[in-house]
Amino acid sequence: MRIVLIGPPGAGKGTQARLLAERLSIPAISTGDLFRTHVAQGTLLGREARKYMDAGALVPDEVTTTMTAERLAESDTDSGFLLDGFPRTVRQAELLRETLATQGADLDRVLAFDVPDDDVVRRLTARRVCGECGLVQHTDHVGSGKPSSCGGCGGTLQRRDDDREETVRKRLTVHTEQTVPLLDWYTTQGLLTRVNATGQVEQVTQRALAAVMRGSAD
Ligand code: ADP
Ligand code: AMP
Repeated sequence: MRIVLIGPPGAGKGTQARLLAERLSIPAISTGDLFRTHVAQGTLLGREARKYMDAGALVPDEVTTTMTAERLAESDTDSGFLLDGFPRTVRQAELLRETLATQGADLDRVLAFDVPDDDVVRRLTARRVCGECGLVQHTDHVGSGKPSSCGGCGGTLQRRDDDREETVRKRLTVHTEQTVPLLDWYTTQGLLTRVNATGQVEQVTQRALAAVMRGSAD
């Protein structure tokens, strides 16, 4: 099963990618995580990508697609994958289709997560990521000054640099201008299913799984 998750920042793509990947036994691949690993390791790609990430902009298509194609060439993707945050432009989608076509493959389903902008801003200002295990969660202690600890491993929770409100607003504009056109592109190909991504995490997972199962029966 080859699945793509599209949605505004904070739609819950990463949260759902982890849960769906477990249930479908396929790897979840987040281009945001791949870039953050490069940034943390101080690679040339990381130094270049960071300029765009800090500004809330998209990293150029060719750089992003090359990095993703290299990840998709790894053998754990042979039985499928779940892409979280890629593609984000029509150009990236075209390049992905070309990459898959060289293996005689195509996507099975594209899920577009719908969440109102206000919810997204609220979710992202409360998002915290564990510095040790990487688990994404949210905190009820925003602004209290108290460090909160990871619900999974007890590690220290950190705020992403690009989750400040002004950068979040910029990322939402970028999503509307550069990623929303992709929805029509995938609709034309009969691959897109919209998923209501509000409500409890488990409810969203059930809706997403139902969409994947319906899609694969088409
Ligand atoms: P994305 O990968 O789309 O940017 P995340 O999965 O990181 O989004 O989720 C953004 C924030 O919203 C995180 O703090 C996460 O814990 C929280 N979150 C995810 N799903 C839900 C949900 N259904 N309801 C409320 N908060 C959620
Ligand atoms: P994310 O973790 O998905 O919110 O992505 C964080 C940041 O990484 C984005 O704001 C972009 O700067 C960059 N990024 C992630 N995925 C892509 C992509 N497909 N195309 C371009 N930039 C990306």
